[in-house]
This record gives sequence, C-alpha cells and structure tokens, in this order.
Amino acid sequence: MFIDESYINNLLNEAKNTKKEEIDEVLIKAKERKGLNHQDIAKLLMVTNKDQIEEIYKIAGDIKKSIYGNRIVIFAPLYVSNFCVNNCTYCGYRRDNSIVRRKLSQEEVADEAKLLIDMGHKRIALEIGEDPVNCSIDYVLECINTIYNTYHKGQHIRRINVNIAATTVENYRKLKDIGIGTYILFQETYHRPTYENVHPKSIKGNFDYHTLSFDRAMEAGLEDVGGGALFGLYDSKFEVLSLMIHNEHLEEKFGVGFHTISVPRLKKAEGMDLSNFPHIIDDEEFKRIVAIIRIAVPFTGIILSTRESEEMRHELLKYGVSQISAGSCTGVGGYKEGENHTEQFEVSDHRTPDEILLYLIENGYIPSYCTACYRMGRTGDRFMSLAKSGNIQNVCHPNALLTLMEYAMDFSNPNLTKKAEELIKIEIDKIQRDDIKKIATDGIENIKNGKRDIYL
Ligand code: SAM
Ligand code: SF4
Repeated sequence: MFIDESYINNLLNEAKNTKKEEIDEVLIKAKERKGLNHQDIAKLLMVTNKDQIEEIYKIAGDIKKSIYGNRIVIFAPLYVSNFCVNNCTYCGYRRDNSIVRRKLSQEEVADEAKLLIDMGHKRIALEIGEDPVNCSIDYVLECINTIYNTYHKGQHIRRINVNIAATTVENYRKLKDIGIGTYILFQETYHRPTYENVHPKSIKGNFDYHTLSFDRAMEAGLEDVGGGALFGLYDSKFEVLSLMIHNEHLEEKFGVGFHTISVPRLKKAEGMDLSNFPHIIDDEEFKRIVAIIRIAVPFTGIILSTRESEEMRHELLKYGVSQISAGSCTGVGGYKEGENHTEQFEVSDHRTPDEILLYLIENGYIPSYCTACYRMGRTGDRFMSLAKSGNIQNVCHPNALLTLMEYAMDFSNPNLTKKAEELIKIEIDKIQRDDIKKIATDGIENIKNGKRDIYL
C-alpha cells in the first residue's frame, strides 16, 4: 500500500521543528515553481508566522492566475438515490438513519435533468449511495443514459462526472464505455485506523479496496479521476500529505495523477453530532490547506462545493479553487421538490446560479460551463501535457466565453446578460492570437444568431 502511516507521521514530526529561514527557502522554491517534495510540503503545513501565511496565499494566487486565468468552472450535483448499505458515521444517508429511502425513476431523473438545464447547467456530478441491490451499476448506467439524452429548450447536460462507491474494474469499464467525465471518489480519510472507525461493519470499511479504487478505474481506462479527503475526520496535515502521495502513486503507475481534488469539509448531517469529531478544522486552517494544495499540485483542478459559505467560497477562489457548484441540492429529487427531503448534509451557500454568476462577473472572474476537453478527447496525460505547456489557455478561455454567452442568451436575467456581454467583449479584446480571437468572435456571433454548443 502506497500510504505508509509511519512515513507520513515521520515527515510531520520532523517538520515540527522547522526554522523560519528553512520555510523561507521552501517558499522561494514554490515561487520559482521548482516542484516541492514531501518534506517541503510538510514544512509548509507547519507555518504559523503571519507573513509566511500571507506569502503562501500570494504564491497560491499567482499560480492559480497563471494556470487557470480568471475562469471558474460551474457545476451542480444530482442525487438520484439515497439507498445505502454503509454506515459512515458522518453521513446523513447511512443505513442506521431512519430516513425515507428512495431512488428516482427514469422519468424523475429526466425531470431533475430538465431543472438543472433550466438553471443553465451543462456539467453535473452524479451522486449515489452504495447499494448493490437497490442501486446497481445498471441503474447508474440507465441514469447516465437518461441524463445525456434529456434535451430541454434545445440544451442538454454535456458532462456527467460520477461519484459512486468504489467498485470493480468491470464496472469502471462500463462507466468508461458510456462516456463519463471524471470518476470522483473521496478517500474520506487516509488514516487507516480512523477510516476503519468511521466506516463500521460495511462494504466501504475495506480501506485497501477503497484506497486502490483509482488504480482499478485507471486500469479500466478511466483517465480522469478526482480525489479528495473529507476534512474533519482526521488530522488535516496528514490528509494533505497523503493526497500528494496518492497523486504521485497514480502519476508513477499510470502517467497521470488526479484530474481534480475536492476539498469537502465535514458538515452537520442528520443523526450525527459535529462535537463527536475532534479534528474539525477552522476557516483559517482550511484556507491554508487549500492554498498549499494549489502550490503542491498546480495543474490539478480544485473543487469546492456549497458545503462552504458564500464568504469562504469567495476567499478560496483567490487561492486555488477552480471549480464550484451552484444552486446545489443534496437530496434525492430535491430540484423538483425543494425542501421536502433529507439532505445528505447541510448546504451553506444557498444562492442561485444567477446570483453566483453575477458575483463572479463583478469580481473579475469568467464563469465557465465548458465541457469540451473530454468531448475532444483531451483527457488523462493529453490534458495534463496541454495544461503544463500553457496551451490549454488557447482553448479554455474562448470556450469559457462561448459557454457564458450561451448562458446569457438562454438562462440569465437582463442585468446579468448585459454584464456577461460586457465581460465577453473585454475578454475577447485580450486574446493575443489572431486565429483564436477570430474563432471566439465568430462563435459569439453565431451563438447570438441561435447556434449552440460551439467549442474548441
Ligand atoms: N456513496 C458514495 C461514497 O460514499 O463514496 C458516493 C458519494 S457520497 C453521496 C458523497 C460524499 O459526501 C462522500 O464521499 C462524503 O465525503 C461526503 N459527505 C458525507 N457526509 C458528509 C457530511 N456530513 N459533511 C460533508 N460531506 C459529507
Ligand atoms: Fe453511504 Fe456514501 Fe453516505 Fe457513506 S458517504 S453512508 S457510502 S452515501
């Protein structure tokens, strides 16, 4: 197993006595983008000096700007079933909770997809509890088919990222064949004893099987995988180092690491009490961790959900987050039924996509609904090499503008449409390459004239 608890504990123990000057050296290395080793990351995780923390934020912000520009990718989760045979102590859907269990019929899945389309979404994360009987892989595949084939007002969901429990190579192959975006699975915690403790007597309780799921997914040909840890279950420093080690393991074995890393923080849920979790992290530590992840893996997207408040999300956009959810509901059938259902956990940012987009535009970001990469075959190492060479900018930036224009034409209010059009004009003027500028300008004109789904 590539996660070695004593190795990580040693790294953290040795880093405890790091002198201020040594941290300065790591910060210079980070600033010069020289690549950080495990010891360097462990040292950064120990920083308490205010100026050095500010420097971490600054470096993370600079890295983010140079790689991702000012684009923020938007998505929404879709929960189709809350049946679950597991008993994760932190989750509202665990089997011991006596909540109403249901899974959506295909008609209901299509209804939810239409509502998401109406909100302007093009990319979703499909979320499902684990239940091989009530919610088999065939049901998951059926839902994916239904969602991809649901057209509403001439639009459809173009990318489905899938967050289902660890499964077999055979099942991952089925996900690959049906054409999913990223396969997402949170490790929850990389600390084996804690993992076993919070996953009592359940399929999910097998640490090795869970931790090796991306190996199986990649063996099955799923090239884009998204990791994450549920911050609050165990020592966050241990989790960050483990995430880095997991990423390296995948890079070494398969030539490509995480496509994305999610940074969920433990939230209140039905039947659980946050006071039973001693490793909850405060906002300051959370911010530092996200910034350090940004520095450690510059080319990996960082996903932040509506678990976090509006304020925290705004803050973290500056230091590293590149994808956010908008208008989310974490209950089964929740987009249609509103409040009348049990959520998996409490959501903090309740703004509509329109409100979130307005904030982004007014604060210099470009909201992007782009889903082009996996549709153009830019996955795995092809995506990473394009990202590392900086050429990705030539497709992501125009694609962001084209998808924003679609949103402005089809789903937004007049004020937002006006602001979006102003932003698009300014951003097109900034494009340096004449050929790209022409493609973007023509594309925007075509969208205004009724064409849709134009991408590079
Ligand atoms: N059931 C699958 C699984 O557990 O891997 C699919 C994902 S589950 C629907 C989505 C994620 O929600 C879990 O991986 C977990 O990290 C997160 N989650 C569960 N309870 C939570 C809570 N109370 N606060 C924040 N996130 C939570
Ligand atoms: Fe089930 Fe996933 Fe919740 Fe665990 S986290 S109880 S596996 S839905």
